[in-house]
This record gives sequence, structure tokens and C-alpha cells, in this order.
Amino acid sequence: MDELKSEISARRMSHHIDGLSVGSSSGKNIKRHAPSDGQLLATWPEGTVEDVDRAVAAARGAFKDKRWSGLTGAQRSEVLRAVSVRLKTGFEDLALIEALESGKILTQAREEIQWAGDIWDFAAGQARSLHGDSHTNLGSDKMALVLREPAGVVGMITPWNYPLVVLSQKLPFALAAGCSVVAKPSELTSGTTLLLAKILEEAGLPKGVFNVVTGYGDPVGKRIAQHPDVDVVSFTGSTATGSAIIAAASGTLKKTIVELGGKNPNIVFADANLEAAVDGAVKGIIHNAGAECCSGSRLLVQSSIADSFVAMLKEKMARVKVGDPLKAGNGYGAIISKTHYDKILRYIDEGKRTATLVLGGSAIEALPGYYIEPTIFSGVTPDLAIAREEIFGPVISVLTFDTIEEAAQLANDTLYGLSSGIWTGSIDTALFMAREIRSGIVWVNTFLDVPSEVPIGGMRQSGFGRENGRYAAEEFCVLKTVIIQDSRSYPRYLPST
Ligand code: NAD
Repeated sequence: MDELKSEISARRMSHHIDGLSVGSSSGKNIKRHAPSDGQLLATWPEGTVEDVDRAVAAARGAFKDKRWSGLTGAQRSEVLRAVSVRLKTGFEDLALIEALESGKILTQAREEIQWAGDIWDFAAGQARSLHGDSHTNLGSDKMALVLREPAGVVGMITPWNYPLVVLSQKLPFALAAGCSVVAKPSELTSGTTLLLAKILEEAGLPKGVFNVVTGYGDPVGKRIAQHPDVDVVSFTGSTATGSAIIAAASGTLKKTIVELGGKNPNIVFADANLEAAVDGAVKGIIHNAGAECCSGSRLLVQSSIADSFVAMLKEKMARVKVGDPLKAGNGYGAIISKTHYDKILRYIDEGKRTATLVLGGSAIEALPGYYIEPTIFSGVTPDLAIAREEIFGPVISVLTFDTIEEAAQLANDTLYGLSSGIWTGSIDTALFMAREIRSGIVWVNTFLDVPSEVPIGGMRQSGFGRENGRYAAEEFCVLKTVIIQDSRSYPRYLPST
């Protein structure tokens, strides 16, 4: 581990364009220090509009000459499968980079790389099974074909919280469809995306099909969204940035897929298996230090059990250890950056003024990086900022309800609609709530459970478009209808004289 750590520290990295490692046209670089202890991890280019234009030209060239889209599904599948095997079996370097750059604990980072490997495996199957349709009921002298074709050049803009997993919820599906790609990872966590570019080419992906430009949202992400030669933009990140991307993309009317934020209700009914529910509540806010788009940051508890449930929650959360991401036994690690750490602490201060602090509520200053205690607020009313806004940290807000109708109303009292959880022993309650709640995924007696087979995505201000499953591959295709007529029965336009 120490050897691997010193091997990957202070790496000088480059954009990946047309199979080449290239620097920024400005000559500038971004330095990434570990949020856990300040150690210099890597530098990567501060990309420019010219860098994006170069990457888009490479992706367009690769798409045009069909070096990838012209292969059979079976050939594309083989490449995706090889990537999956690398991720599932050789994950240690990727996991360590992910843990150091993002501050997440190493055990979780390892699970994430293998999870990503599973998505690549699923997408490899999609490369073989994507197909169009035929209409044979239009008369015996006519038929129509619905061709499913690759959408073209796809721009992918990703966040820092799950760098490789989020990219893997898009990239293998776009590649399965035959698209070419220009990706922009977060300026805070670009390491694994750049390494993946090399892994892809080792697996047999032709040069120019996958390109990476590192740098800031403006100009790199913005230029990708605006670029006239990008056909689709697939974005995951905050709702504010998603809205800016849709505006930037509107000038060229390209398709946008936006996976955005959430303030997700995790709802506990009195008849639930409370041991399981409390574990779901803890996992829902502790996992990834709460930097989880689907986190259960709004815990809605039925009033009759609220006091005892909060006591159980407090007891479990108090046992979560926080610290060095590489040290076994820690429940979560460091917060991604000083800016984000300050933002979480501002919300905690707001919570202390407006609700009841049950646990935590402080930064952990004895540790060298950015660490915050697991924090619980009770007595939260629906109008408070800590009940409405995405904190993206280890901070849970507890609200109460009396009836099932009130639970549904509270759950939907948000601008978001990404995920929700229901803990109940009653099938009637589960059925009613699952149908009532407006969110892209509803978990019943489970939480943060995302099999590669099923679609995920948002409603309302959590975005639109779907990732994972066959639905993801379909997002990166366009349909073309071909109608074929037997010319001998084609009706004469002008009657012969
Ligand atoms: P962010 O919106 O700040 O940044 C995301 C990406 O967009 C980064 O690569 C950034 O450089 C880029 N960007 C920033 N400004 C841009 C602009 N004007 N034009 C184009 N690109 C721009 O988000 P973040 O802080 O990296 O990630 C946290 C957010 O991501 C949270 O809101 C979280 O809920 C969301 N998220 C959603 C999902 C999901 O599946 N719905 C998954 C993970 C994270």
C-alpha cells in the first residue's frame, strides 16, 4: 500500500486527446491536494476552449470514419467486458486514487470500482442486444424499419462525489451504442477518469473514441455544452450547474441528460422493522460522508415512535468513527474541499439556531484535514433551510408526521425528486407511498441500493434522463425510420393522360 501510495503521489497528468497525452494550450495546471491531510497528489491541465475543440474534433473524426461505431456489437462488447474485468479484479490503484483525491474511505472506494466494473459488464451485454424494430403490418408491398443508431459525439461532465461510478453510469452505455465521447471530470477528482482512458485503450478501444479534458466548469464544461459538434451532453452535478448547462446547450438544441441534486425523504413508519430502519437511516447519511445525491438527509419519522427512534439513531451514529480514509474501521473520511466544509458548517450553525441539536455539530479540528462529526437535528420543521436545501454532508434532519397522508405530503414537499425510502411492515403502506411519492427511485425496506439493471434518474429539479439498465444505452441512440415501398405499386402522382 505504501509503495502504491508513493507511486501515485505528485503525479503529473495530461489531457487524453486522440490517444495522446497533451497539456493545456494555456500551459496552466491545477494542483490537487488530499483533503484528508493536504498532501500534493497530482497536477492536471487547466483546460481551455481550444483544448475542448481539439478533443471534440478527435471524437468527431473517430465517429465519422466508423472505427468504433462500425464494429459489430460483439466486437464492442469484447472491449467493454475487458474493462469490466480490469475494474473488478485490478481495482487497487483506482481505489487508492479515488480515496486520496476525494477523501472517501478506501474500503468504500474499492467497492465502488468493483461496482463500476459490474456496470461495464452489464453494458457489454447491451452492446450486443441493442437493436431496432420492424413494422410489417403496413401492407404486403410496404414495410418500415426503425433503426437505432448511435447519437454521435457525447459530452460527459461529472462531479467529485463518485468520480468513476458516475462516469460508468454513462460511458459504457454510450460506447455500447457506438458513440464517441469527450469527458470532463471534476477539477477536484480527475485522476481515475484519466487512468480509465489508458485502461480503455489497453482493452482495445480505438484512439480518439474516448477523450478527456480536465479543468474548471467554465470554460471546459461550458464549451462542451455549447459546442456545435457535440450531439448530446450528459451531466451529473448540482441543480444550479445543470440549469446553466441546459441554457448553454440550448443555442445548438442538443439533447441534454441531467442528473442533479436531491433532498431525499427516508420515511419510517411505526410498524417497520426498526433495527433495519435505523441501519438504513445511518447508512443513508453516513455513506460517502453524506456527499451522496440519494442520501436520506430528510428523515421523516412517525410521531408515535419518534423519540425512541431518534435515541436509537443517536446511539448508532455516535459509534461511527471518522478519520483517515486509508485507516480501516473509519465510517467515513474527509470532506472534499475547504469550500464544501465551510458550506456544511454554515448549515450546521443554521440548524443550531433553528432546531434541536441531538448529536455532533462540530468540525473535528484535531485531525489534519477537513472532517465533520456525524450530526443529527430533531424538531426540524418543513420550512427550515436544513429541511429544504441539499447540505451534501453528514447532517440528518428529523421531521415527524402522524398519518400516512401527511407522510406523503411531507415527502413531496420539495423541489427535488431523486430518491426516497419507506420503512414499513405493511404492504398497503408500501404500495400507497410508492405510488404517491414523486421521485425517480423508491426504496422499500432498503436504501442506497442501485443494481446495474435498473434505471436511476430524477423527477422535477433532480433532472431528467435515465442511467443504468437498457434505458441508459437507449439515451445515447437516435431512432431513424426507413419506409420501403414496392415501386410497382407506388401510386402514380399525376394520372397518365
Ligand atoms: P457541480 O455542479 O459543482 O459540478 C459538477 C461538474 O460540472 C464538475 O465537473 C464541474 O467542473 C462542472 N461545472 C461547473 N460549472 C459548470 C458550468 N457552468 N458549465 C459546465 N460545467 C460546469 O457539482 P459537484 O459539487 O461536483 O457535485 C455535487 C452535486 O452533484 C450534488 O448536487 C449532487 O446531488 C449531484 N449529484 C447527482 C447525482 C445524480 O445521479 N443525480 C449523482 C452524483 C452527484
